[in-house]
Amino acid sequence: MSKVLIIGGGIVGLTSAYYLQKKGYEVTVLDKGDITDNCSFGNAGMIVPSHFVPLAAPGMIKQGIRWMFDSKSPFYVRPSLNGSLINWGLKFMKHATAKHVNQSAAPLRDLSLLSKKLYESLAKEPDFEFELTNNGILAFYKTEKAGEEEAHLATRAIELGLDMAVLTADECRALQPDLKLDVLGAVHYRCDAHLYPTKLMNALLKYLLNNGVRIERGKAVDKIEVAGNRITKVFTGSTAWEADQYVLATGSWSPAVAKMADVKISLMPGKGYSFMEPEPQQRLTIPALLCEARVAITPMNGQIRYGGTMELDKINTRINMQRVKGIVESVPAYFPDLKPALPSEKDIWYGFRPSSPDGLPYIGRSKKRENLIIATGHGMMGLSLGPATGLLVSQIVSGMTTDLKIEPFAVVR
Ligand SMILES: Cc1cc2nc3c(=O)[nH]c(=O)nc-3n(C[C@H](O)[C@H](O)[C@H](O)COP(=O)(O)OP(=O)(O)OC[C@H]3O[C@@H](n4cnc5c(N)ncnc54)[C@H](O)[C@@H]3O)c2cc1C
Repeated sequence: MSKVLIIGGGIVGLTSAYYLQKKGYEVTVLDKGDITDNCSFGNAGMIVPSHFVPLAAPGMIKQGIRWMFDSKSPFYVRPSLNGSLINWGLKFMKHATAKHVNQSAAPLRDLSLLSKKLYESLAKEPDFEFELTNNGILAFYKTEKAGEEEAHLATRAIELGLDMAVLTADECRALQPDLKLDVLGAVHYRCDAHLYPTKLMNALLKYLLNNGVRIERGKAVDKIEVAGNRITKVFTGSTAWEADQYVLATGSWSPAVAKMADVKISLMPGKGYSFMEPEPQQRLTIPALLCEARVAITPMNGQIRYGGTMELDKINTRINMQRVKGIVESVPAYFPDLKPALPSEKDIWYGFRPSSPDGLPYIGRSKKRENLIIATGHGMMGLSLGPATGLLVSQIVSGMTTDLKIEPFAVVR
């Protein structure tokens, strides 16, 4: 049986393991942590075919600069002379064009729709209960300007065959009758869904362990041995791991791990925060995006998860309370009855979105190391795009025709 070693046990690593195991491979997953708290656990749980516009889009640079001067704003880049940040920034600027947005829309939509379909099949399997709910997402706005941007997005989405509707404030109230709303309107991304990431990740882990996949926690890959254009071994301390093919799914740590095999990946960690609040009345039934504030609110596990902010900086463990305050204070402006308390530091989760400069993930075989498959760079959409990425990885490993064209996601592009 052919052996595959996956580095990284986030949604991308675990879904890759899932589809590879189904194809009969002998699979091992190595993770430096305990796989209880990586970026794939604390995210907002939104499944978003609506997000066919990559982060690198016209207007983002101007908006980003404005936000940088506000300590509670949802976006921040730590100014630095760090070579990888400068390189990433230059690539981001090059891609923040209408042409890039147009070219990316169909590939992102197709990857997202495939993933959503795979989530629907997964949810039908025994022991895979992860609160997958098809209520769509409501993107609320308070200003004319955000309303116009959302309406424009909805028009484009409908052209792309996605189900969306522009709603008046009263139509929003009819959909969320138990919540007071102070909004101008919303776009209902009816094509979207949501789930509870912790239940999903735990269901995947349980399935993999019960089906012969080896999951090795607390194993940080710190060296990769190569010979010619192949990887021969991967090391965690003094332990060597050998396989026929290797999958790199280490999220925001991917540039550092790839470098061990002398492979370059342009990627920055985009830190975001989330926290949970009890919501016994369960008034919020449809996840919400607060357009101006860039905050995501999702009902899950009988509670509400609030999430937001994007800080581009080195990986670090600091919690910036000002930005968490920014999330907390934005909520009642849209929902006067929802007043989340400022959580204490210990109750704040943070994770690092593996953000590529052009906003598309990297999914494909490395040109330099022919037995290495790279699957990372999913940024704000890693949960959504996880199963489709895992399926494509399994098809690339086995040399099958892939369900989708993978050229737009090539590692060197
Ligand atoms: C606040 C917030 C909200 C979000 N909301 C959404 C959402 O609603 N919908 C959506 O689709 N996406 C969302 N995202 C993005 C999504 O969470 C990420 O894109 C996704 O989790 C990335 O998955 P991954 O498997 O690539 O990486 P990760 O989940 O980060 O997993 C990578 C793993 O690699 C391991 N690793 C790293 N280095 C090594 C090493 N040297 N050796 C071994 N193991 C290693 C790490 O320990 C980690 O477990 C959100 C993110 C944030 C921060």
